[in-house]
Amino acid sequence: MVLFTKEVIDSSTAGPHLVITAGVHGDEFEPMQCVHALMDRLTGKLKSGKLTLVPCVNVEAFLLGDRTASDNLDLARICPGNPDGSITMQVGHALTKLIKSADYYIDLHTGGTRFSVYPLTGYPLNPNQQALEGSRKMAQAFNLPFIWGTDWRLQGRSMSIACENNIPAIYAEYEGAAVCSLEGVRDYIDGCLNVLGMLGMIDREQPPSCVKTVVEDPSEGSGHMQICHPAPFDGLLTPHYELGDRVNQGDILGIVRAIDGKQTARLIAGQRGTIIVLHTFSMVREGDATFVIA
Ligand SMILES: [Zn+2]
Repeated sequence: MVLFTKEVIDSSTAGPHLVITAGVHGDEFEPMQCVHALMDRLTGKLKSGKLTLVPCVNVEAFLLGDRTASDNLDLARICPGNPDGSITMQVGHALTKLIKSADYYIDLHTGGTRFSVYPLTGYPLNPNQQALEGSRKMAQAFNLPFIWGTDWRLQGRSMSIACENNIPAIYAEYEGAAVCSLEGVRDYIDGCLNVLGMLGMIDREQPPSCVKTVVEDPSEGSGHMQICHPAPFDGLLTPHYELGDRVNQGDILGIVRAIDGKQTARLIAGQRGTIIVLHTFSMVREGDATFVIA
């Protein structure tokens, strides 16, 4: 059974195999538009190596308009999956196989329906120096303003598979909030073309660097976006800050008010830094991450 379609552009000249995936989460649209644009622009145009493009890995989730497929498993947490498991486990297995075939890997995301993420590229801080150096170079070339190196021990992700196999890899995040931003699509296309240029797979002059901040945080659990500033109960979230704002530890990030209006809680910044993820969907459930600070 074909779980997702891929477009293979082979130059028939020796060079690296770059894999680019979109739609690991079904409600993240800029990556899908970016991959379509790359299919249009690069077919027959590759100078060396091979490029595999996947416009949507998690097709069932996409058709549901949701982050996950009908089994509610997060594809970015269950890799390497299982060929005999439920739909997400099967897709995870196929995705793992594809990642293992790559010399370089880019996984494109956004905040999806409920979150907005400051444009960033990230990678696990792989103890293998060669793979880590490769990831760093890819992130610099991709050229989004924020670069985030995080705990390599996080399990189940596309990045975990790349890391275990010492494949230089990055993921990217770009806003979200249930829309498809044209700027996001454009910056993602440019980012992918920059990496293709850096790898010598196309002719491309690298643009001036837009990188403003590089944070490498090797502490355990860093990069795990779902656990930051959890909502204390179900309710409506009113944020006091926007994406990219700088905050200090102790600042009131926003409030959650229960739907009966009788209980209000303040969300207090647990650290100093830049807000890189914001829960934009007003309804929050108990335990949902509201703000991520890096
Ligand atoms: Zn995602």
